[in-house]
Amino acid sequence: MNEESDFKNAEVAIVKGDIPKSTLLKGIETLGGISKFIKEGDQIFIKFNLSQPTGFPTNTNFDVLESLITTCKKAGAGKIFLGSFPFKSISINSISNVLNLEEYFRNLGAEFAYLDNSNLFNKKNIKKDQLEKLSGESFSKITINEKEFLVPKVIIDSDKFIVVNQVNVNPLFKLNLSLLNSYSMVPPKYQEIETNDSQDNDYVSLDKYKKDLISNILDVYSIKQPDLIINDLFYILERSGPCIYRDSNLQKTGIMVLGNNAVSTDLITLKLLNIETQDYELILEAHQRGLGIIDPKLITLVGEDIEQNSIFVELCVSKLAKINLKNFIVNSGQTCSGCFKQAYHLLNLMKTHMIKDLKYNPRNAFLVGLNPGEPERFDNVILFGDCAMRSTNNSNFRRTQIIYKKSSSKKKSSKKSREKDQQNKEKIKFKTNKNILELPGCPPDIADCLKLIFKYYGKGNLPNLSLLSNFLKILVDPKTEEKLRIMGVI
Ligand code: SF4
Repeated sequence: MNEESDFKNAEVAIVKGDIPKSTLLKGIETLGGISKFIKEGDQIFIKFNLSQPTGFPTNTNFDVLESLITTCKKAGAGKIFLGSFPFKSISINSISNVLNLEEYFRNLGAEFAYLDNSNLFNKKNIKKDQLEKLSGESFSKITINEKEFLVPKVIIDSDKFIVVNQVNVNPLFKLNLSLLNSYSMVPPKYQEIETNDSQDNDYVSLDKYKKDLISNILDVYSIKQPDLIINDLFYILERSGPCIYRDSNLQKTGIMVLGNNAVSTDLITLKLLNIETQDYELILEAHQRGLGIIDPKLITLVGEDIEQNSIFVELCVSKLAKINLKNFIVNSGQTCSGCFKQAYHLLNLMKTHMIKDLKYNPRNAFLVGLNPGEPERFDNVILFGDCAMRSTNNSNFRRTQIIYKKSSSKKKSSKKSREKDQQNKEKIKFKTNKNILELPGCPPDIADCLKLIFKYYGKGNLPNLSLLSNFLKILVDPKTEEKLRIMGVI
């Protein structure tokens, strides 16, 4: 694809303001006004961040969405839908119930889209074939690069597609930018990277997981490219993210970046945040595929100046051992991005929500990746992922050494027999170490890990996780999971 001819109209605006609502409006005006993007009667789909039932900044700032809906309506938009797929196994209905999203958006004149149809799951006597029919009616099957994706028809059929992305730090990609946001327009099942190659050490050393992930993200992005992109970094979660973790810090920048091409908009956002384009593989690969340009000179930049508004953010740690959990040592062998990402989230989740639990359970070793180092002074060993389990099969910690002391004979004995007795006094035996918790998967699923941790340490030793599990049961119940499976979503 000839980038100069196809993307010569790439336009990006950097705007600064006092509050998010007016900053968004200023951004749209700087780009030429909303009527440049929306025509009378257009059906609009607004894709935003909605990963779990928490508020901003894990999810998009609702003030920004409110402002955008009002603007689209003023421009004469017909129907306005909003939605996104959350993390695996969490139904959209459960998030809507916690955050009251349906009513909130209805009052603004828009419609919250239950992309997984979970609002209908509680309908009396809904049968498997009815769910399958519903799935067929609400999703389109789209094949890209020989991969099949289920995409909600409401997104495909909309005249205009807008991505409103909350920018936060991200352990794999440094930052959550709009290309990543687009990924959750398809169900979690189609976001997963399946591999049977964990036996193949090349898979890890070449980080094929990340390559496949990037390829998948761009496949999804190319299904429906947004007409308007908003990278909201008015507030940005730094140090630890993209969810709210104990080490996270919220930095106020007062800035938003808007554009008509996601690659260009993400590129300018990276420049503003002092991240080298070479360090952001998603952008490079998108450029290779002809999805956008990476030469800032070819982008029309309006609004504020990049250099004068330069922002420095603390990125996520690049080594798992730096997450520093009380009573835990983390030994990381060679990992691919799959285990790094999942272990990063699990360790941060434990650090954030299991403070008492960590205090009550001393001396734990968390081993991840291929050939992690032998742990020293531990009571429990957690093996995270298939690679850690497989490559430590013959490690010393797999066996415990037991020294038996024989009681010496009471009879009077000669010097020679006393010496022999001394030699036989200690006997060493090896037993399989039972204090090992294996968390299988390539990479492991976090919800499954929490269940296994709970079972291994026991309810009495995990007051925080016990509470968290009760909350998770409300969000992720087995009956709903089964229906999501029938729907083809997980
Ligand atoms: S087990 Fe983890 S480190 Fe090994 S290949 Fe799978 S995801 Fe990568």
